[in-house]
Amino acid sequence: MNNDEIWQAVLGEIELTLSKANFTTWFKNTFISCFENNEVTVCVPNTFTKTWLEKKYNFQIQKAISEITSKEIKNIVYKIETKKPKNDNGINKIKITATSIEEEANNTPNQPINNKNTINRFGLNTKYVFENFIVGKNNELAYAACQAIVNNPGGAYNPLFIYGGVGLGKTHLLQAIGHELSKKTDKILYTTSEKFTNNYIQAIHGGKAKEFKNLYRNVDLLLVDDVQFMGGKDGTQEEFFHTFNELQQANKQIVLTSDRPPHSIPAIEKRLTSRFSSGMVADIGQPDIETKIAILSRKAKEKNYFLEDDILNYIANNVQNSIRDLEGALNRIIAFHEFNNTTPTIKSVKGILNDLLSTTQIKSVTPKDIIEAVCKFYSLTFKDLTGKGRKKELVWPRQITIYLMRKELNTSYPTIGHELGGRDHTTAMHAYNKIEKEIDSENEKIKQEVESIKQLFTSNIY
Ligand code: ADP
Ligand code: MG
Repeated sequence: MNNDEIWQAVLGEIELTLSKANFTTWFKNTFISCFENNEVTVCVPNTFTKTWLEKKYNFQIQKAISEITSKEIKNIVYKIETKKPKNDNGINKIKITATSIEEEANNTPNQPINNKNTINRFGLNTKYVFENFIVGKNNELAYAACQAIVNNPGGAYNPLFIYGGVGLGKTHLLQAIGHELSKKTDKILYTTSEKFTNNYIQAIHGGKAKEFKNLYRNVDLLLVDDVQFMGGKDGTQEEFFHTFNELQQANKQIVLTSDRPPHSIPAIEKRLTSRFSSGMVADIGQPDIETKIAILSRKAKEKNYFLEDDILNYIANNVQNSIRDLEGALNRIIAFHEFNNTTPTIKSVKGILNDLLSTTQIKSVTPKDIIEAVCKFYSLTFKDLTGKGRKKELVWPRQITIYLMRKELNTSYPTIGHELGGRDHTTAMHAYNKIEKEIDSENEKIKQEVESIKQLFTSNIY
């Protein structure tokens, strides 16, 4: 059995014991890179996965490998690494051109389903243009900044750093800038920080570092999506730092997106975050009901589908999380009624949304979800967490719960105290300040812990 076969067998075992969402979340893009003596190195795509596998699945993985290989496994090391492309056996195979990036872009998960998306020669999805972007209070600043850049690239704000939660339109805006400026120049490069990293590693291994530099440093517009994934990748950060400086000095426009503000990206060099913040930082927040209705109505129209106002209203009020979820719900509703040849009613829509609620991330997060995620993460019961026990193993998770409730949901201190088994609001306040201080002082371990828990309750996967 080679490493791939062993890992496939392990995944086969584990898959049986987990929900599909859970399995995909934690085991996608994982593989064994090394199996020596009694030690196995498992590669994972990011720090969240690393922390989580170490903490939660290590035992199960170890047991499965031992059983499959009939060897006693002493240790498993989790390493952050993405898989090299298959058949990549040497320098000649490595091609770093805008086209290879374009090809990769075809596989991005960002492309919504049920829609004809074509990817143009710059790797941009033809659907992500300004014309079909709905502007609301939540995104007007980011939108305006993008417009300013289109009108005065390299001059208005450089870089523009757009941040916000998942599925709220960052990639859409980023690519819209690309489309608009592609009318003026051909030297446009759209990439994600992960692709940048992969291409860089391939270039180094293939002795093509110079070509890599030339490609990235000779553009008029560099669009980098999801820069938070540069965290922890020191070589990439170093290279990106120089790319960045060269472009900025030459007044070439740089636009970056991230799921959080520059200073909150874990494991990233200070000099980079300060560069990221040196132009314009714009956030995208959760859309309000009016914006959601406008988006729904626009998307329905694009699909030549008509929905009554009360139904649009109902969907907007009940699908809480992102615009991607909103689109997903709409697609589901249209598909269902077209298939059954019926007209949507509140009742039928309600049925579909209820269905979705139980399977996807459509629900908004509540204090209870946070409690549940924390319990899961630290293997505690609800009673442990909300009870009177004062052991360190209980106090710490309690403080993290308080922090998350306040930070993520802006829950009042008295309510937090109440949710946590009737504690005083000053206790909650104290805990919040304590954790915030730790996080502000760049305590990576805590930051990662918090991120992993966040990942749990926002993806609603258990
Ligand atoms: P992010 O990159 O922030 O995760 P995306 O840009 O991929 O999110 O957006 C998710 C989906 O929602 C896309 O299909 C996008 O077209 C759509 N979307 C987001 N914001 C808007 C908006 N303001 N108007 C129209 N569609 C939007
Ligand atoms: Mg995106």
